[in-house]
Amino acid sequence: MCGIVGYTGLRDAYPIVIKGLKRLEYRGYDSTGVALMSDTLRVYKKMGKVASLEEITLGKELGGNTGIGHTRWATHGEPSDRNAHPHLSASGKLAMIHNGIIENYGQLKQELINKGYQLKSDTDTEVLLNFIEEIKNNNACSLEEAIRIALKRVTGTYVILLIDSEMPDTIIAARKGSPLVIGIGKGEHFLGSDASPMLEYTKEVVYVNDYELAIVKPQELILKNLGNERLTPYVQKLDIELAAIEKGGYEHFMLKEIFEQPKTIFDCLRGRLHADTGTITLSGIEQYSKALQKANRIVMIACGTSWHAGLTAEYIFEECCRLNVEVEYASEFRYRNPVIHPGDIILAISQSGETADTLVAIENAKAKGAIILGVVNVVGSSIARMSHAGAYTHAGPEIGVASTKAFTAQLAVLTMIAFKIGQLRNTISQERLSALLHELEAIPAKVEKILSYVEPIKKIAKQYAQARDFLYLGRGYNFPVALEGALKLKEISYIHAEGYPAAEMKHGPIALVDEQLPVVVVATRDSYHEKVLSNMQEIKARKGRVIGIITEEDTAALELCEAALHVPAADEMLAPMLNVIPLQLLAYYIGVEKGCDVDKPRNLAKSVTVE
Ligand code: GLU
Repeated sequence: MCGIVGYTGLRDAYPIVIKGLKRLEYRGYDSTGVALMSDTLRVYKKMGKVASLEEITLGKELGGNTGIGHTRWATHGEPSDRNAHPHLSASGKLAMIHNGIIENYGQLKQELINKGYQLKSDTDTEVLLNFIEEIKNNNACSLEEAIRIALKRVTGTYVILLIDSEMPDTIIAARKGSPLVIGIGKGEHFLGSDASPMLEYTKEVVYVNDYELAIVKPQELILKNLGNERLTPYVQKLDIELAAIEKGGYEHFMLKEIFEQPKTIFDCLRGRLHADTGTITLSGIEQYSKALQKANRIVMIACGTSWHAGLTAEYIFEECCRLNVEVEYASEFRYRNPVIHPGDIILAISQSGETADTLVAIENAKAKGAIILGVVNVVGSSIARMSHAGAYTHAGPEIGVASTKAFTAQLAVLTMIAFKIGQLRNTISQERLSALLHELEAIPAKVEKILSYVEPIKKIAKQYAQARDFLYLGRGYNFPVALEGALKLKEISYIHAEGYPAAEMKHGPIALVDEQLPVVVVATRDSYHEKVLSNMQEIKARKGRVIGIITEEDTAALELCEAALHVPAADEMLAPMLNVIPLQLLAYYIGVEKGCDVDKPRNLAKSVTVE
C-alpha cells in the first residue's frame, strides 16, 4: 500500500518530503526512507515510522531540491532497514520507490542473477529497478525509454518514482493500479499517493492514469503513454482544506473522525435528501433510472468495513427495492467466474476508491456488460473514474486507519440509493418513504447525542480492556453492525473478537461463553427485539458478561446487561448508523486503555492498493 512523495523545485526537498510522508503514514509504516539529489544522490532509510527516520537523519547532509520519500507496507520481504525504500540500483546512480507488487519479480530476478547481479534486499522493487538499469545499459537508451521497455514486461501493480543522478532535477514516475497525484506549483512540482502532501502548496493537481509515465521537472510536466505519445495533463482543482487533514486538538485522528460524524452524515445528505417533498436527488444515479427500473439484480462489491456497509445495505435494498442482492468480497469475486448478465447493477463500495481487489472486480464486471455505480469517498479516485456513475460519500479525508466516518457516510449514501431505486421501481410506498426521509434527516442530531455519552463508554472500556476475547452479536440490520464492532476492536486493540448473527450463536459460539467472556449484543428495539432479548437471556444463563447496545429507556433490555450503552430510538432500517457509534468508541477507548497506537494499528494500512 505504501505512501510515496516527491518534490522538485527551488526549495529544500527534505522537509517537504518528510511532512508529506507523515500525512501518508496511514498507508503504511513498516519503514521509511528518502532519496535526495544535490551534488550527489543520498539515501536515508530506516525501519519504523517517519519519526525513526528523522532521528537517524539528525545532523546529516539533507540538502537537495529534488527528493523522493516512501513509507512502506511490506509485501515482499520483512520490514527492515535493508528492505526499506528507496532502493539504489547496482550502479548507485538510480534511486527508486514503489507502491504495489511486481508479480513476475521472481522471473525477472532470476534473469538478473543469471547476469551476475547481487541484490541487497528481498523486495520486488529492487528487482524492477535493476531490471530497468540493465535495459538502460544494454540498449544505451534514456532512462525514460528503459522504463517504458521494462514496464511492458511487468505484471502486477505499481507507482514508481525514480531519480537519476545524471538528471538531478528530474523525477520520472509511472503508474498502473496504484494511485499517483502530481501537484503543480510555480516552478515546482509535488508528487504523492494522494493530494495531502501538496495541500499547503498548491490546489492544482493532475491524477495520473494507468499506463502513463510522467517526466517531472521544476518548470515542466510531460505526460506520456507507454507508447511514447505525449498526452495533455488534465489539471483539476482540489477542494480539500488543510484543516481537514489535521488533528484539530483531538488526541487521535480516529477520535476526531468519530466526532465528525454528525457533520459528515449531514454533509452526505445535504442537497440530496428532501424530506419536505419526499424525494431524493442523486444526479449520477438518476442517469441510469431506466436500467435501475429494469434491473433484476444488484451485486455489491467491497472489502473490510465497506463490505459491512454493503451487507447492511443488502437488508435495506431487499426491503425497499425488492431486488435480488448479493454482497461479495471483491477479492473472492474477482477470482471466480461470476455470472454477470448485461444490465446487472454493480455497486462498488470503497473509502479510498483505490482498493486493488475492488478495482479489478469492477473491471471484470464492466467487461461483461454490468453497470457500475461507485460509492466512494475520495473524489477523483480510480474507482470513481472507472464507474459509470455513482455518489460520493463526502466524508472528507479519513486518516485513522480504522474506518469510522467513512462507514456511516457509506450507510447514508447506500440508504439514499435504496430509497431512490425503491421509488423508481415503485416498491416502496410514498408514505413509508416520506416517514423514512424524515427519520434519516434526524440521524445527525441523534449521533450527536450518542457522542455526548462518552464518559460511560470510557468507564466500560476500562472495565473490559483486559478480556482476551469478545463476542459481538446482532440480528437483522444489526448483524452487520456486530461484525463491524468486532472488526473495530480487533483492529485497534488486538483483542480477538468475533461477530455473529445472534441466532446462530447456538450453532457454535455459545460454547465459548463463560464468566470471562464479554458478549456485546446490539439489542436496540426492532422487529427482532424479543428474540434478541432471549439470546441475551441465554448468554446470561451461562454467566457470560452481556454488554448491551440498547435503546434509551428500554428497561427490559437493561436488566439483562452487565453494562449498557444507550442510543436514541430510530427506525430499524436506519439504526445501524447510530448503533455503530458506541461500538467505535468502545474499540477506541479499549485501544487507548491498552496503550495501542490506534491511528496506526500494527500490520494494517488504510487504502489497500495491493492484493
Ligand atoms: N512491494 C513493495 C515492497 O514490499 C512495495 C509494497 C507496497 O506498495 O505496499 O516493498
